[in-house]
Amino acid sequence: TQHAGDQRVAVIGLGRFGNSLANELMHRGWDVLGLDTDARLVQKYSDGLTHTAVADCTDPEVLRQLGVHEFTSAVVAIGSDVEASILVSSNLLEAEVPNIWAKAVSRQHGQILERLGVHHVVLPEHEMGERVAHLVTGRMLDFIEFDDDYALVKTVAPDIITSVPLGRSQVRSRYGITVVGIKRPGEDFTYATAETVVQKGDVIVVTGKTHAVETFAELS
Ligand code: ADP
Repeated sequence: TQHAGDQRVAVIGLGRFGNSLANELMHRGWDVLGLDTDARLVQKYSDGLTHTAVADCTDPEVLRQLGVHEFTSAVVAIGSDVEASILVSSNLLEAEVPNIWAKAVSRQHGQILERLGVHHVVLPEHEMGERVAHLVTGRMLDFIEFDDDYALVKTVAPDIITSVPLGRSQVRSRYGITVVGIKRPGEDFTYATAETVVQKGDVIVVTGKTHAVETFAELS
């Protein structure tokens, strides 16, 4: 967890991923140090970020001079150059940065980063591919899967849960899912209660084990 003074992050690699991430963190009020070996990219983003520098972060001395060892969070947003990603990650681990995030381009790359000890490894392409597959094959409008086989899904309400109050629909015992919210066309999102009666055409937000949520979203 972060507290006020800790809202500083070093983003290493200002490609598409690193730049989007750095912008979003700025938007959330964090101080962002953006680093890249490419002077053109650094120049391009220098106005939008708190600090930027042209730096080859595979060199531990370069990182030290930039004070990266004093940061509580750092993100290695280098993808295609796997060797650089590994070297930079290992430098950050050596500098004992407490929260290190790294992007991986393949499962093998991700595994190496995890074995090194990187605290959070993300596989944007794989994760997005899985998510889009859920959207393409079913009625799901949105799908988020958490680490522990637990998912949150936005879907069109299947007929079998319409017309009776949720409390009496037995969705939890029958399907192992919980309806947390409901969005009627043209109305605002509201939280679901035991008294909520879902109607045909409503969009609902459901949580539960990934498998249970998937099965439920395929019901008609
Ligand atoms: P994306 O797909 O998000 O654009 P890339 O892997 O193509 O990701 O981009 C990674 C960025 O990281 C590039 O801008 C590259 O210049 C930068 N980069 C590569 N090696 C280093 C390094 N040793 N130190 C700092 N930045 C690096």
